Amino acid sequence: MRDPSGRSIRYLRLSLTQACPMRCIYCRPAIHNPPHRRNLLTCDEIEQLVRHLIFRHGLRKLRLTGGEPSARPELIEIIERTARLPLADLAMTTNGLTLARDARRLKDAGLKRVNVSLDSLAPRQFAQLTGVDALPRVIDGIHEAIAVGLKVKLNTVVVRGSNDQELSDLLTFAASLNLEIRFIELMPMGPLAGQWLDRYVPEAAMRKALANVVNEFIPLSTGSEAARRYRCNLVAGGETTVGFITAMSHPFCDACDRIRISADGGFYPCLMDAPAGNLMSAIRPFAPDRLDELLRAGLAHKAPMHPASGHSPMIQLGG
Ligand code: SAM
Repeated sequence: MRDPSGRSIRYLRLSLTQACPMRCIYCRPAIHNPPHRRNLLTCDEIEQLVRHLIFRHGLRKLRLTGGEPSARPELIEIIERTARLPLADLAMTTNGLTLARDARRLKDAGLKRVNVSLDSLAPRQFAQLTGVDALPRVIDGIHEAIAVGLKVKLNTVVVRGSNDQELSDLLTFAASLNLEIRFIELMPMGPLAGQWLDRYVPEAAMRKALANVVNEFIPLSTGSEAARRYRCNLVAGGETTVGFITAMSHPFCDACDRIRISADGGFYPCLMDAPAGNLMSAIRPFAPDRLDELLRAGLAHKAPMHPASGHSPMIQLGG
């Protein structure tokens, strides 16, 4: 599957639900009405859709997202069924709240990797950013995910005036667990879109803020990875790897190989653009040729570069 700019689409980010127990200040709008359960893609429909994308269109990678994917009761079944398909990668993005309990089941079901959102190591700040006083639970979840053998990365959305003073602590914490952390530039979508310029911290400023713990950033090659990754020599000795997701300061649209589908079938060829229709009419009942028509028509809207501001809050389509 290719878009009009010639980019091959190999990677699906599939949102399983718009429900999430967290209320991250940059993600979840005050009024948020998730679609009714009956309008969500079922396990059968998800398997059929992913199969179709693999066998007809060469899909290689699948990431389960949300909302919060662990809020979807059928998560384990969805992982089991997609893990049996010939995918090079099966990953999930999570707030980490249920990992201490469920990491083993996720791994046994066939999940390979988790990216855990961790915006602060200060309990109060964590609660302010996420709306949930649950930092120890998330930290326990990270430890459990490592213990059961999932590959773990940490994700931090950096928000000026909230957690931008904590980057060194977060990097040091990640390095102590031998984990890669990715600092995400705030994107102008969702509740902070109106204050974006005041709250946004570009990669260059993040790297400056890390100067007290990092001696040198040595660039690593990225391929189709969204993150700009660096090997870091640490002031305290030793090395770690850090990534910056720089959608705003260094957009990576040229290398974009992904599409997104929301829990109710919305088709998002670009994270920041409006949905290019809804695939449900070709999924329920399953109509493969019609599905291809909708995919083709939607992909025709994938612009070479993302728009300046996002159309929908991330909770709606998954990050
Ligand atoms: N609930 C899961 C989680 O917490 O990771 C998955 C869904 S969440 C929408 C996916 C990612 O989007 C998270 O890393 C989140 O921090 C990020 N995100 C949400 N809104 C954002 C924004 N305005 N700018 C940058 N990243 C954002």
